[in-house]
Amino acid sequence: MKIEFLGATREVTGSKHLITTRKGLKILLDCGMYQGKGLETDSMNRDLGFDPTEIDYLILSHAHIDHSGLIPYIHKLGFNGTILCTPATRDLCAIMLADAGRIQEADTRTFNKKRQLQGLPPVEPIYTQADAQACMGCFISVPYHKKFNIEGEVTVEFFDAGHILGSSCVLLEVKDGRRTVKIGFTGDVGRYDKKILRDPEPFPQVEYLIMESTYGDRLHTTLDTAEQELLMAVLDTCTKKKGKLIIPSFAIGRAQEIIYALDRLEHVKMLPDIDVFVDSPLSVSATNIMRLHTECFNEAIADYMKSDPDPFGFDRLQYIQSVQASKALNVRHKPCVIISASGMMEAGRVKHHIANHIEDPSTTILCVGYCEPSTLGAKIMRGDKTVSIFGQLHKVRAELRNIESLSGHADYEELLRYISCQNKRQIKKIFLVHGEEQTQDNFRRTLNKRGWKRVEIPAFREAIEL
Ligand SMILES: [Zn+2]
Repeated sequence: MKIEFLGATREVTGSKHLITTRKGLKILLDCGMYQGKGLETDSMNRDLGFDPTEIDYLILSHAHIDHSGLIPYIHKLGFNGTILCTPATRDLCAIMLADAGRIQEADTRTFNKKRQLQGLPPVEPIYTQADAQACMGCFISVPYHKKFNIEGEVTVEFFDAGHILGSSCVLLEVKDGRRTVKIGFTGDVGRYDKKILRDPEPFPQVEYLIMESTYGDRLHTTLDTAEQELLMAVLDTCTKKKGKLIIPSFAIGRAQEIIYALDRLEHVKMLPDIDVFVDSPLSVSATNIMRLHTECFNEAIADYMKSDPDPFGFDRLQYIQSVQASKALNVRHKPCVIISASGMMEAGRVKHHIANHIEDPSTTILCVGYCEPSTLGAKIMRGDKTVSIFGQLHKVRAELRNIESLSGHADYEELLRYISCQNKRQIKKIFLVHGEEQTQDNFRRTLNKRGWKRVEIPAFREAIEL
């Protein structure tokens, strides 16, 4: 049997790995989109490196677009296999893929306007909202710890990876002649001691481990300080400067963590008397899905919900759906908190809020997650004095803050803790994926020092016999 690494190799988006069994069964692990590389991204996404009609099963670790975003595209190209994931991942995919389709349509419309001016023919979006809806019929949801058998040849089991709602580490047992090969795929690994989701959970011994390495050379501060840092950002911006606190956030996961942190602060009367807006239709839908999947919650939030049944809602918090209400925030002069997607500030309504407020020193932009180096978020946070937004140059005068501990990804000590459930001698190989090249080199050295000897960093489209 062999594995081909078709994406997220020495980079952090486009997760795709293809396993072909000895009998020829083709199982794709994730089908993620490349993000954040401008024009180059589109051609990278269209060129898959495999024939979608040949894929029998797609096993999805979690709903983030860099892991799931090309599912509508392969379905449009003729993929008609089965997609396996947890129930929460399926529900999140239903809204996230439709949203991604809508973004593709809108981006293509803008792009085609430019092409028309240049006398060039229009291009088609990689997929549409309708394509995204069409692929949902392929999904079968499998709860954590239930074994799913594929044609008597492969068993699949999901373990909670504690990264976002429904996220999983995938365990495969693949028959290969007389032997059974055990393969683990971590997907993205979350942090420990989070406020809503459970810790990443130990998983049974594997021989091959495909492991994420986003923060393979970084240590985060402890999560306990995050709530304090958030409160300070609110007080300094809204009370002292009388300005707006803009929090660009991924619609799923981070947004709900911020909302829940503000909810807790409000519950103990520590939050000043200001309005909080969640201005992202996707965040609104994601929060509703989160409310449905309390089976993924940890004990602490379950306890909290005994005294406050809705951890994602309080009096001064408003969820905004309409474009009109979103635009109204621009002309509002009172201090407030605006939580809006996308987290990397590349798209979505937050980009408009940033364009409208970045030159105002009373505004604070609070970054709460990872920004891919080529994105607007990364440019702002690394201290560029001027940035281009929607084709216009803006001076960066807003105050910039960062809460790194809210990262959805484990740091290297947490990654080491995560794999401590494994016996080092029984692991034949660890494949590092989903990390920038330098970070992966550093993480490999750390792993080697701690006794994990056989660690590889596969190249793009490298095929390895297992
Ligand atoms: Zn993720």
